[in-house]
Amino acid sequence: MTFPATRAAALARLDAFLPRAGQAYAAQRNRDAGPDAAGSTSRLSPAIRRRLIGEAEVCAQVVAAHGPHAAEKFIQEVCWRTYWVGWLAQRPAVWTRYTADVTRLQGEVEANSGLRTGLAQAMAGHTGIDCFDAWVSQLLTTGWLHNHARMNFASIWIFTLGLPWQLGADFFYRHLLDACPASNTLSWRWVAGVQTLGKTYLARADIIRASSGGRFAVTAPLAREARPIADTPVPLPIAIAPAARADPALRTGLFLTTDDLSLETQPLPPIMALAATSRSGGSPSALKRAHAETALDDGLARAAAHTGCTAERLDEADAITAMRDWAARHRLQQIVTGDAAVGPVADRLTALAAALADDGVRLVRLRRRWDDLAWPQATRGFFPFKAAIPQLLARA
Ligand SMILES: Cc1cc2nc3c(=O)[nH]c(=O)nc-3n(C[C@H](O)[C@H](O)[C@H](O)COP(=O)(O)OP(=O)(O)OC[C@H]3O[C@@H](n4cnc5c(N)ncnc54)[C@H](O)[C@@H]3O)c2cc1C
Repeated sequence: MTFPATRAAALARLDAFLPRAGQAYAAQRNRDAGPDAAGSTSRLSPAIRRRLIGEAEVCAQVVAAHGPHAAEKFIQEVCWRTYWVGWLAQRPAVWTRYTADVTRLQGEVEANSGLRTGLAQAMAGHTGIDCFDAWVSQLLTTGWLHNHARMNFASIWIFTLGLPWQLGADFFYRHLLDACPASNTLSWRWVAGVQTLGKTYLARADIIRASSGGRFAVTAPLAREARPIADTPVPLPIAIAPAARADPALRTGLFLTTDDLSLETQPLPPIMALAATSRSGGSPSALKRAHAETALDDGLARAAAHTGCTAERLDEADAITAMRDWAARHRLQQIVTGDAAVGPVADRLTALAAALADDGVRLVRLRRRWDDLAWPQATRGFFPFKAAIPQLLARA
């Protein structure tokens, strides 16, 4: 099982998947025949997550191939990620609280031998629950799981194994090649029943057997009820700041992050210098790190060809100093980069912007039109957001 780590590979994957993105996708997308079988879904998520390929171009191609009606289900799934990102962008405290919970729970693991053993068995795939142990192995070796596997994995982790959802989300985040602060955290919250009040997702053996094409027997008992999990109320949404605009009159550098690796497809001012760092936070697995490095190299090569600048890799360990030096060396007055809503890259951009402002350099986070149009719609549930999708497709 391989995942596109370059834009060319992502476009080729989309091209190959296009014939199956219409009614076939709607009918078969919940089937998970296993890592070695032909997939019922696109397996484009690592490429979309890093924006080797953008949502607008993916959706445009699928609509062109199938028409808006047959393409509807696939488009909706692409929009789930957009919705989650927009929802979290308006409630960044949910992410901050989640990261604080992970740190606190890691401390509790040290002190609690029962929790430590349970966690170690789950993360090693030694629980005796056949599907769960196989999914751990697949996650560690490929960095990807089918959506149904993720839902059932999370449910078993929380309700059968009795482990904190935050540590499961962190385990996923470290290993998934598509790890997305919004989709991952909010999907785990949804399974746990703290995202949509009164709704939990309880894994069932018969459904796992059916969706996996009988690969798993699932004889070990699974939790029969979802125990309620306490959570603090979700904060009220805050308005998303208007998208920043680059000033074409300023001497400008382009800074790439692993959150947006096809900025050359977007409108850019004249670029005088090009740089990147690859760090995206947390402790990624070796597989995830290697995927990010390949994607970043590819993004830099395309940006270099587009701008005519030589690509520089800045020191990850002290990115702020490296960035200030880079800006000074090239006498930059402005640095443009892809916008990141919430998560480690967004946090780093906020810190970089403050440091650069002290030197009189603007950091401009270029928001894609897709995000600009869609994020403010994610104020409530997915269903009102879904109603705005036709307009989003037409305008983006
Ligand atoms: C517990 C849990 C954690 C998850 N963590 C992530 C994550 O970190 N990053 C991530 O991109 N997705 C996450 N998902 C959503 C979903 O499982 C993956 O996006 C999907 O499995 C990717 O496979 P695909 O590219 O073949 O999807 P396809 O079915 O081909 O869908 C096309 C694209 O739509 C998006 N998409 C599809 N389904 C969903 C969904 N349910 N929610 C959000 N976006 C979706 C993805 O970008 C995907 O590439 C998670 C789901 C669960 C239940």
